Amino acid sequence: MENGYRASSGLRIDSVTLDRFYVRMDRNEFSFDDALEKINRAIRPHQLSFREISWFSKFAVKEGVAEKFFVNERVFLAGDASHVHSVNGGQGLNTGIADAFNLIWKLNMVLNFGASKDILNTYEAERKPVAHSVIDSSGELVRSTKYSATGTHAQDYVKIVERRSGNITGMGIRYGESGLVGSRMFDLDVHNGSEMTRLYSLLDYTKFTLLIFDGNDIEIEVPSFVNVIRINTSESVQQYWTTYSSFSNQAVLVRPDSYIASVVPLTNLGSLAHATSDHNRGSFVFWNGASAGLQKNGDPFHCGDVKTL
Ligand SMILES: Cc1cc2nc3c(=O)[nH]c(=O)nc-3n(C[C@H](O)[C@H](O)[C@H](O)COP(=O)(O)OP(=O)(O)OC[C@H]3O[C@@H](n4cnc5c(N)ncnc54)[C@H](O)[C@@H]3O)c2cc1C
Repeated sequence: MENGYRASSGLRIDSVTLDRFYVRMDRNEFSFDDALEKINRAIRPHQLSFREISWFSKFAVKEGVAEKFFVNERVFLAGDASHVHSVNGGQGLNTGIADAFNLIWKLNMVLNFGASKDILNTYEAERKPVAHSVIDSSGELVRSTKYSATGTHAQDYVKIVERRSGNITGMGIRYGESGLVGSRMFDLDVHNGSEMTRLYSLLDYTKFTLLIFDGNDIEIEVPSFVNVIRINTSESVQQYWTTYSSFSNQAVLVRPDSYIASVVPLTNLGSLAHATSDHNRGSFVFWNGASAGLQKNGDPFHCGDVKTL
């Protein structure tokens, strides 16, 4: 389509802001004109005409989740290979990338940092339930375009999006059932002296990040796969600081894929060395699994001089 398209009322629609239509046809054989007729019926009294069509294709909705996400710790499925569903909610690509992110740091830990291969089991344990939840969301959305008890398809659709927004945006996806551990670290505002930045701009996504709130006096040694960022919860001229105070005097260990692995008071930093979180949920195996070959003294977090500010 070239430079947008024009509705017959004279309203110009810019292709930058509105550039594709999904049209549910309910039959296998149809032409572009059939699809256009359906669009025009839906937007009456306006009428669309296209100067040029750059892409037109047909697809059928399928729903399914692979039985296994990996075989013999060698073959891994991610993205559409492990889950397919309707396009409603726009979650396919996001979910696939999140699969890859979840997997890749675990492979890195096994291949380069001596972590136990057991950590790879958590890939399927964490991502398979997510795949099912995405299918539930996109399935409910696509079915609502066809079936509505009250004939209020559009309103029904919006309500489902609102109800499932955490799942649809991905920000509400968590591993495990409750609490901070297993939830996604959110992108809090961080000031760098007088400059404003955001936490996500500071994270090194190839590493774990240990966020130490209000712990400038604490000396700590960490393994090479951990990046340490110190953030004050009061204004600071030369250091990172935030007005978000819920993590005051705490340390938050964030996985490379931005999920919280552990939250501990600063007085208990050494416990991170054993922050396996919750084996029962099978989700957050971390230091214990990764310990062989990592530590000089059996404790990857060697804290000197721990002080509570
Ligand atoms: C119409 C439509 C709209 C969508 N809109 C959105 C959206 O708004 N947001 C969103 O998040 N997702 C959306 N999706 C879903 C998203 O496109 C897919 O989830 C995503 O592309 C899957 O990526 P993938 O890498 O897993 O698989 P694919 O993109 O399918 O990549 C697999 C690749 O492997 C290649 N391949 C296959 N077999 C072989 C072989 N034997 N040897 C070598 N190569 C091979 C294929 O050619 C392909 O390039 C949409 C999908 C469709 C169909």
